Amino acid sequence: MNSVTHAPLAFDAGLRWQTGYARLGENFFTELPPQPLLDPYWVARSASVASLLGLDDEALSHPDLLEALSGNQPLAGSQPISTVYSGHQFGVWAGQLGDGRALLLGETEEGWEIQLKGSGRTPYSRMGDGRAVLRSSIREFLCSEAMHGLGIPTTRALCVTGSDSPVRREVMETAAVVTRVAPSFIRFGHFEHFASQGDYESLRHLADYVISRYYPNCLGKEQPYAALLQEVSQRTAVLLAHWQAIGFCHGVMNTDNMSILGLTLDYGPFQFLDAYQPAHICNHSDTQGRYAFNRQPSVAYWNLHCLAEALLPLINDQDAALAALEPFKQDFSEALLANLGAKLGLQSPTHEDRLLIDAALQLLAREGTDYTIFWRRLSHCIADNDHRSVRDLFIDPAGINDWLTTYQRRLEKEDHARVTSLMLRTNPKFVLRNYLGEAAIRQASQGDYSSVAQLLQVLENPYDEHPSLEHMAGFPPDWASSIEISCSS
Ligand code: AMP
Ligand code: MG
Repeated sequence: MNSVTHAPLAFDAGLRWQTGYARLGENFFTELPPQPLLDPYWVARSASVASLLGLDDEALSHPDLLEALSGNQPLAGSQPISTVYSGHQFGVWAGQLGDGRALLLGETEEGWEIQLKGSGRTPYSRMGDGRAVLRSSIREFLCSEAMHGLGIPTTRALCVTGSDSPVRREVMETAAVVTRVAPSFIRFGHFEHFASQGDYESLRHLADYVISRYYPNCLGKEQPYAALLQEVSQRTAVLLAHWQAIGFCHGVMNTDNMSILGLTLDYGPFQFLDAYQPAHICNHSDTQGRYAFNRQPSVAYWNLHCLAEALLPLINDQDAALAALEPFKQDFSEALLANLGAKLGLQSPTHEDRLLIDAALQLLAREGTDYTIFWRRLSHCIADNDHRSVRDLFIDPAGINDWLTTYQRRLEKEDHARVTSLMLRTNPKFVLRNYLGEAAIRQASQGDYSSVAQLLQVLENPYDEHPSLEHMAGFPPDWASSIEISCSS
């Protein structure tokens, strides 16, 4: 007798959906269900992302939600699709890529796209297995929420679910799924895809969708597509100014990892700097240093040129396209000056202040001083009018003494309380250092998720003191510099 298999019942989490990306039509995606994940368990959850989606505590701990977000049960009202895009990887045209292991479940009425990452093979998986491992999923989850806590534009992460299912990377690891949330996961690469195919009708359809949904003020412009390019360029400049000021290295700034909304997207071999080394390369696979920390702004500009080239058939005017990118350098410099100035407690830093900032960065680079600790200590030193803990960070006292004298003189023009309050809300006490992530991942792979939860707690509010979790704010241990993070995830 034939056995009858029933489709699993859909779980109704109470989410209300609208047709977003899916309305673009068939050549933009493939509809397919996630692949089941054996015996899933919760690894990490973010209550703050849940509340964005209107999910209460009960929904967030519901066993059916665990099944739904692991791909074992449909989520009522969702319409899972994987989208097609292309891109330039490490400066070279890579052709068609696409969501090789991600599925967009849909978009909520409030405008949040919900995406599973690691949910199995798709038509765009190429040689990949469609899976993500626990290690990289925890890193993506924590860093998404860390960036948000720092006030840096980013995709968000609702949760990580894990399974004992083996996944082969350099060694055998286990599978996990991250549920990501963002207004849109559209990448530069989506535009490059249709442009490279000469499918200008789809290209226009995509651009019109992005403008109407996310950049409506471009609609009234004489050149709406050039205006779109200019706005994306502005947002990207602002994003890069955040990364450079906080000491964040993305690691894989391929055009398929660039968000059309200027969000930090696709967390792989990223790193927050420990020692300040401007040419630091965080991605072990990046042998040429293309994505070194100090090259990120120019790589972003290069990527924007790829986007410009993709949009050129719509803009239809090379000069207009180039003009749209022209403000990038100034936008970036101004945003960076504002961000670095704020680190010094200066609300309106001048170009002269830039010299003071550069002098500090040179001192940090010369000795490889810890970037996060320097700025946090400086904030406290100014608040307490006691410079010792900053001086202690340097072997050579002369440079820092001179710098502190100049800086103090500059601060005489400012209101002390405002300076210290700005510094303490600009210079975080906690960042997701590689070694903190590694230690939490080691525990998690033994089934203990407490450090992941503790890290989430401090990273959600990284400017607060969290006295009981002080150990997460210290210097990295010696082994931190031997951690090698590659593209493998
Ligand atoms: P990434 O380097 O993570 O940005 O990924 C680049 C491309 O490879 C994207 O198209 C991904 O979807 C795809 N990809 C990465 N890892 C996998 C995997 N394990 N299975 C399928 N596709 C993958
Ligand atoms: Mg990617």
